[in-house]
Amino acid sequence: MYKIMTPGPTQVAENVRMARSRECTNPDLDESFVEFYKETCEKISSLLQADGETLILGGEGILGLEAACASMTEPGDKVLVLDNGIFGKGFADFVTMYGGEPELYSTDMRKTISVEELEAYLAGHHDYKYATVVHGDTPSGMLNDVGRICPLLKKYGILTVVDAVSTCFGEPLNVKEAQIDILCGGSQKVVSAPPGLTFVTVSQAARAAIQNRKTPIASFYANLSVFFHYYEEKWFPYTMPISDIYGLRAAIDNIAADRDIIRRHERIGKASRAAVQAAGLKLYQASGFSNTVTVFEVPDGTTDQAILETMKKDYNIMLAGSFDCLAGKVIRIGHMGNNATAENVRETFHGLDGTFRKLGIPLQADMETVFMESLEAENR
Ligand SMILES: *Cc1c(COP(=O)(O)O)cnc(C)c1O
Repeated sequence: MYKIMTPGPTQVAENVRMARSRECTNPDLDESFVEFYKETCEKISSLLQADGETLILGGEGILGLEAACASMTEPGDKVLVLDNGIFGKGFADFVTMYGGEPELYSTDMRKTISVEELEAYLAGHHDYKYATVVHGDTPSGMLNDVGRICPLLKKYGILTVVDAVSTCFGEPLNVKEAQIDILCGGSQKVVSAPPGLTFVTVSQAARAAIQNRKTPIASFYANLSVFFHYYEEKWFPYTMPISDIYGLRAAIDNIAADRDIIRRHERIGKASRAAVQAAGLKLYQASGFSNTVTVFEVPDGTTDQAILETMKKDYNIMLAGSFDCLAGKVIRIGHMGNNATAENVRETFHGLDGTFRKLGIPLQADMETVFMESLEAENR
């Protein structure tokens, strides 16, 4: 088994794996499961400071994004798609699929969305039902300031859908203050449960928009409204993946007990970027650095595959390249959730130092040393 240091899926703690092996009841018929599901949803809402309800859906992170778009989009609806990354742009496909008309607001993938420029754009263009924005665009390591972007959109009455799959619980996020109508999260990133579940928070305004639709939602599985009355009716639209939800609950309890989680991601993110830069490698981002993933460019003279293969073979550590327009161009270190410990990341930089040495790529500094020194400086 490799030590996975990928930006999702992440390392799964033993208590989460054990929780998944608990004895099963029939989640359709046993009301204690309905209570367990509701409690788990409430814990997620409370950790994210969401005043709306959380729903856990039986599918990977992408299901949350699709369900948000399927439920919010009616044929002909205009939707603003904030695009400075691969997931950012990808929302346009879901909007189109459900009959909406996406309008892309595309900006430099290396820079965080400028709130001032967006404000200037919105002054002249604000006739949208909702907007989509990605908090952390994982393929490039982009972080967008949803805490300022969403309130700006709401000023114009635009509802907000946020993909926080790779950031929630690893970056500061207050759903109520940020005025996020639908926030999408996933089990396999910071949460550190296996892939398979998505959860969404749904504000009163989003729920009203969904309930007041004139046309039916063109999906059953990606339809949030089929969950709206599960508790009163003690009925789920489909049989819930009970073991996955036991595991998710244990992972959420781990997060609730971890007082330092946001600060730890911040310290590790900063120290990782310091190490990469001191070595003379180039961070992909010019601004908007997610503390859950560090993305650096593949230097001249080698390839992403050579780096990834050497890391696996010589150090037993799995890192990730990227995909789409970034395929072959960058390496990603996922320091999110259980991956984000000083020891895991130190070991990763130790491996990268050796890998670059072996591949004949000179570095200007020993990344393991710089990482540990920066972390100590952060701890002071
Ligand atoms: C991981 C992730 C998702 C879920 O997509 P998969 O690649 O299928 O796991 C969605 N959005 C973001 C930003 C992600 O990082």
